[in-house]
Amino acid sequence: MSDVQRIEPHFDYDIAIVGAGPVGLALAGWLARRSATSRLSIALIDARTPDAVANDPRALALSHGSRVMLQELSFPGDSTPIRHIHVSQRGHFGRTLIEHDEHELPELGYVVRYGSLVGALADAVRATKVDWLTNTSALTPTQDADGVTLPLQTAEGERPIRVKVLVNAEGGFFQQQGPQRDESTENARRSRDYGQTAIVGTVSVSDPRPNIAWERFTSEGPIALLPCGGQRYADYSLVWCGSPDEAARRMALDDDAFLAELGAAFSSRMGRFTRIAGRAAFPLGLTALHTLIDRRMVAIGNAAQTLHPVAGQGLNIGLRHARALTDALSIDGARPLALVHFAQRRALDRRLTIGATDTLARLFTVDFPPLAAVRGLALTALEFLPPVKTALARQMMFGQRR
Ligand SMILES: Cc1cc2nc3c(=O)[nH]c(=O)nc-3n(C[C@H](O)[C@H](O)[C@H](O)COP(=O)(O)OP(=O)(O)OC[C@H]3O[C@@H](n4cnc5c(N)ncnc54)[C@H](O)[C@@H]3O)c2cc1C
Repeated sequence: MSDVQRIEPHFDYDIAIVGAGPVGLALAGWLARRSATSRLSIALIDARTPDAVANDPRALALSHGSRVMLQELSFPGDSTPIRHIHVSQRGHFGRTLIEHDEHELPELGYVVRYGSLVGALADAVRATKVDWLTNTSALTPTQDADGVTLPLQTAEGERPIRVKVLVNAEGGFFQQQGPQRDESTENARRSRDYGQTAIVGTVSVSDPRPNIAWERFTSEGPIALLPCGGQRYADYSLVWCGSPDEAARRMALDDDAFLAELGAAFSSRMGRFTRIAGRAAFPLGLTALHTLIDRRMVAIGNAAQTLHPVAGQGLNIGLRHARALTDALSIDGARPLALVHFAQRRALDRRLTIGATDTLARLFTVDFPPLAAVRGLALTALEFLPPVKTALARQMMFGQRR
């Protein structure tokens, strides 16, 4: 036997999760619930506190599948159910209606406020043994064969922690920063600028149709209206995608002029638009890492892929990733092998969801009359091909969950 004793490496935590947005919080909560058997120690790190986003009014459509997964932790009480989804295109024939009872589901999905969702998940995580470091920014990590060293920036200064696995759940739209953002990973991203900007806000209508989500394709981009008022049926969350120049012009309009233009673009299916609040603009693009894992580091949520909001898939796919990573780390432990299993398991769903969203975002914005006719036929054909419609709806609601 050698008389040189091997010194066991020291680790502050088995797993560090950077980012306490909805995806990082869900992962922390699910991992903590399994830690009684997996015995994993977990740190959750965020540059801000959950209170900072308590009033974030951004509305997100969560599928029924996401609700089922989140229910185990917590689900916001002020969510609004979606029971019907109406899809049409402006200026051309063709529409399809997806109904909850066709799928034998109580609801197709739910509209939740970003602030409410983060608040509900934060309460669930606070009740666990997760070590939550707020007001702490993660800087660029380095890794070796044994683990990852992650420098943390706090008000008191900089200090490193040592972990076995680092999860990047730090979100970001176009402007990713922090772990995994360097020259080499920049090259490893697929990216597309859709040349579109989304105007978001909350609108009220004079003739509301409760629990219907509307998706209307126009030559400039889709308009989505999601029911979001809970019992106040007249409120809808708006996502209006258009060219950057048109979006900038519309952002500068006064409320009455803005509502009149929206009415002309959307149709009078819900009467008149009577109010707009909280207008904000986001540039839209696709960014997707080619590979989710790099030895002991893994990216999930918007840090892994940022999608066009056309089909409301961004957070839903992020939650499916968090769930699969929970399974892999709980079974295989905080080891690179767990990350390999996770990446293999997520590959198909990721390819399908990114591909479908990217195709929809581009296909429905080409203003070429023959193509518009084909799109109209496709939407109408869905009504007569229930298995195709069901397969499409199930992919959107549940993804591929192996
Ligand atoms: C207009 C629009 C509409 C959308 N609609 C939908 C929809 O209907 N349905 C849907 O599923 N998705 C939708 N999305 C996408 C959805 O918003 C995102 O997928 C979701 O918010 C991503 O969650 P996340 O937890 O990955 O990241 P985030 O919510 O961005 O959270 C990231 C967290 O990381 C923290 N952080 C960042 N960097 C660091 C660092 N270096 N150190 C420490 N902490 C850090 C941040 O403070 C933040 O708390 C939409 C997006 C847009 C733009």
